[in-house]
Amino acid sequence: MRADLAINELHLGVLRAELCRFDDTEHAAYVLFGLSRIEQDPFDGQPRLRLMVKDVLRVADDEIKSADHQHISWSTKRFVELLARADREGLHVGIAHSHPRGPDHFSSQDDRNEAELARLAQNRNGETAVLPSLLFANDKLVAGRVWTSPDIVVNLGYARTIGGNWHTTFLATEPTLASPALARQELALGAGFNRLMSHMRIGVVGAGGTGSPLLQQLPRMGAGHIGIFDPDHIEHSNLNRLYGATWDDAERKVKKVEVAKREIERMGLGTQVRTYDSWIGSAECRDALKSMDLIFGCTDDHDGRLLLNRLAYYYLIPVIDIGLALRVTERFAISCLEADGRVSVLEPGSSCLVCRRVVDARIAAEEALRRNEPEEYERRKTEAYVRGEGDPSPAVISFTTSVATMAVEEMIQRMNQFRGEDGSIANRVRKFNLVEDFRPGAKQEPCRICTSDRIHGLGDVQPFLGRAG
Ligand SMILES: [Zn+2]
Ligand SMILES: [Zn+2]
Repeated sequence: MRADLAINELHLGVLRAELCRFDDTEHAAYVLFGLSRIEQDPFDGQPRLRLMVKDVLRVADDEIKSADHQHISWSTKRFVELLARADREGLHVGIAHSHPRGPDHFSSQDDRNEAELARLAQNRNGETAVLPSLLFANDKLVAGRVWTSPDIVVNLGYARTIGGNWHTTFLATEPTLASPALARQELALGAGFNRLMSHMRIGVVGAGGTGSPLLQQLPRMGAGHIGIFDPDHIEHSNLNRLYGATWDDAERKVKKVEVAKREIERMGLGTQVRTYDSWIGSAECRDALKSMDLIFGCTDDHDGRLLLNRLAYYYLIPVIDIGLALRVTERFAISCLEADGRVSVLEPGSSCLVCRRVVDARIAAEEALRRNEPEEYERRKTEAYVRGEGDPSPAVISFTTSVATMAVEEMIQRMNQFRGEDGSIANRVRKFNLVEDFRPGAKQEPCRICTSDRIHGLGDVQPFLGRAG
């Protein structure tokens, strides 16, 4: 069993302010967690628990019985009250505390106290209840673990933040890597960037026009683990833009994921690739999607986008969604090409695709019908109740590659801050025919996905992502 943590950088700031007060005294806070249970990680085959911080709650002064530089003890009355709330809301109650003078590991006293809290949690909420625990020292998160029973504890391997800038803290052993293939990139972005690339699990949903150039770039940047999702096979009309795809692949109807995997393995850079050729909402893709640290959304379908849109907020997995629209219009009897490339980052703190009016719920419903009930879909199409697939859209490899590159640059910024600490851009549209980038806003109305934090970090719910069907 492995475990890791995702935390919004705002929550991390609250925890540090609460616990690391430089008054030479231990402090503690309650933390509510959402949980993601992964039966089988696609890369190591192990079960994995992923904790998402949902909320941080102060331990009030009158709850603290005693505290000094090497111990803290507080009343557990509120812990039991919080267990009732967690049970209602599908959450888990954990604790965070500090060691002002170190050590940066849990003490034997911590072991005893936490085993007792784990027992309380399971007595109250059943044996699926877990007790997560975070430890801070010297103003930093230094260790974390989760008790899955009063006598089984799993240490957290790493913690990553979301929200503008993405930082990863390795809490177990740090991956080491020094490949001559990445020496020039190290000169630009540093050894830490290369280490992180080799460690991260990156999903690419859609191996078509914009996914294909991404799948050329990410392995050459040292990506260690890539999951590719696409149900389609290569067609002759794809050959103008899919890197590595051949006429023979189209003749033989080879799956797009297979071509992408073959091209990555041909590089010989050691990237582990897992492929999924069913629709991303199907059960086979679930563990794989939930295991990712970052997902690029390169799909054309509205229903797939709606699913990733929810996944980003429920599981605190940032999604970089890519869109490209090419239109040929007439102006003064002259034919003009308009090309708009869009890169949107989905995570708590940023507007979702519904609020950015990128997805159309009606088209998504028609896509779901076509997938689940093809006969009914055809019947409605002949009666003109559904719009049908429409004409194929224009596509040019230079534009698909450019917009994929914009998405990779956004990833680099968030990991490396090359544009500065405030340089992240949640939504960018490049108008290729104007040679200019824009940052359109989003509608500012209440949204159940992005403006309310109810589902942020909620993790596993029934049905998956709260989606019917
Ligand atoms: Zn302690
Ligand atoms: Zn929204």
